[in-house]
Amino acid sequence: MRAAANLGAPRDYAQSHQWTLQPEAPVLANAGTDVYGRGLRLAPKAADALHAMVAAAARDGVTVQVVSGFRSFGYQRRLLHRKLDRGVPLAAVLEVNALPGFSEHHSGCALDLTTPGLPATDAAFATTPAFAWLLAHARRFGFALSYPPGNAQGVDFEPWHWRYAGIPPAAGRASVAAAPATSSARAVARGEAAAPAHSAATLAGLSIQTYPR
Ligand SMILES: [Zn+2]
Repeated sequence: MRAAANLGAPRDYAQSHQWTLQPEAPVLANAGTDVYGRGLRLAPKAADALHAMVAAAARDGVTVQVVSGFRSFGYQRRLLHRKLDRGVPLAAVLEVNALPGFSEHHSGCALDLTTPGLPATDAAFATTPAFAWLLAHARRFGFALSYPPGNAQGVDFEPWHWRYAGIPPAAGRASVAAAPATSSARAVARGEAAAPAHSAATLAGLSIQTYPR
């Protein structure tokens, strides 16, 4: 894979880590600003769901903020190069960032969330009232943790990284199948290799889809 080679990663890095190609979102909506005041873009359904979820959290006295939403292939490439230029070893970079083309953020449905008083993408987010609120309520708005503890991909627990996977058909039903099917269908439509089966796990009653970052 060219992007991997350009960054100095083995060409088969993505395959060997079971990462799935993540097509860039075909349509994006302006979803306000992130915690840094930058324009936030998301897939339209994810933007609507985010706004409803943030408002519901606020009504419960919980502040949920967005660190990062849609990221293009080019942005992901620059993000990785910036870290490498700062002297961060590639292996360390790839523990927290996907190679360009393989980040869930390309889909426009992934979000990194935070709450006031915390650095971005900090494991301590798991100890906050905001995370507890999300665990209890995010599913209602169609959001699921991509990397719960012990996820099948072996990715470190990322309490801040959530993905809009669609609203479950009815409360109490475990599976949210819409997002992986859509993602695979898009990959197939673009003539890309069929994606490996997505794995699902359940945490605290949430339906979890696992995807690359
Ligand atoms: Zn993320």
